[in-house]
Amino acid sequence: CSSGVVPEATENNSRLNLPADSIINLDHGDPTMYESYWRKLGNMCTVMFTGYQSLSYFANPKNLCWFLEPKLEEEIKKLHNVVGNATVEGYHIVVGTGSSQLIQAVLYALSDPLNEANPISVVSAAPYYSSYSEVANFVRSGLHKWAGDAHTFDKDGSYIEMVTSPNNPDGAIREPVVNKAQGMLVHDLAYYWPQYTPITGPADYDIMLFTVSKCTGHAGSRIGWALVRDINVARKMVKFIEINTIGVSKEAQQRAAKILEVISDSCSQTVRPPDQLDNFFEYGQHLLTERWKKLKDLVKFNELFTLPKFPLQYCNFTGDFTEAHPAFAWMKCEEEVDCEKLLRGHKILTRSGKRFGSDQKYARISMMSRDEEFDLFVQRLSSIHGIANGN
Ligand code: PMP
Repeated sequence: CSSGVVPEATENNSRLNLPADSIINLDHGDPTMYESYWRKLGNMCTVMFTGYQSLSYFANPKNLCWFLEPKLEEEIKKLHNVVGNATVEGYHIVVGTGSSQLIQAVLYALSDPLNEANPISVVSAAPYYSSYSEVANFVRSGLHKWAGDAHTFDKDGSYIEMVTSPNNPDGAIREPVVNKAQGMLVHDLAYYWPQYTPITGPADYDIMLFTVSKCTGHAGSRIGWALVRDINVARKMVKFIEINTIGVSKEAQQRAAKILEVISDSCSQTVRPPDQLDNFFEYGQHLLTERWKKLKDLVKFNELFTLPKFPLQYCNFTGDFTEAHPAFAWMKCEEEVDCEKLLRGHKILTRSGKRFGSDQKYARISMMSRDEEFDLFVQRLSSIHGIANGN
């Protein structure tokens, strides 16, 4: 997402050396803040491939998801058990090219191909993740159609509700809001990891989506997974991915498996002592806690901006009472101001509340950038006080 404006850090150089007046792009949720953790690990996660490996389309012909690498399946299950954020027993795992592909697959799997006259409605409570509407309507499939904010949905018949918890953009813990008998729920749990939110128990919904993009920061590997209870839904999702991309890159799956293995190890002091490997989630939580503190301290003395508040909750993973430290700041401008436009005027790129089915008073700001970009953002934000006094 650097679009040539923000220079990329090279493999060996974590410093961006940003000029003080550079454009800071916090529009995308690009998880580059995790680079610092992985850089410290050096070659611990290196995965090598020879020329004769991974030629076959097939990874495990005996598995329902025949393109899922057994090692990745094992590491996904292990990590959920270590973190305690989802039940894996009794679920089918479907791997996807990012959870973005799995969102498409699940919409296909839950639609009724025999009811062409009535595409199934897809809803989510505003403010909702801006991609859902795009994914639901992009290819005008005739199977499903975006029906907007779940709060105002009142059509009879079946529907799909996307429940994102913690929510993108505002970090809130969510439950379904339509609650009608013919609803089908998809729980997008991309951010249900300890660095972002207290883990209050293992999730056990019918369909749950996860992604390495937000768990480990390896968005470039494009690996996501779905935990699906119903075998027929899982089968249809696999069929969708077969038609769409004939499976998922084996190299990416192997790399993701290695990364997940190292994360699980980092949580277990018996596998590796902490002087060798920092607990990944504690590291991420620490980084986000510091960033949120800086942002909150600044906003406290600024009459223009406000941020959401999060309750203290007990986290089963850390064994502490903690607040959420979401991946995004959902910032509100108190005056009747277009928040995204205001920030853009200060060379800070964010995503407007309008894109999430909400108001232009809000803007979503990524908290997952590199340190240097975040610090520059906070510094620049501190100079904006109000429209009335010309700032
Ligand atoms: N769901 C949510 C809620 C997200 O925020 C994202 C990434 N922004 C995705 C799904 C897609 O993630 P990916 O395709 O990188 O796995």
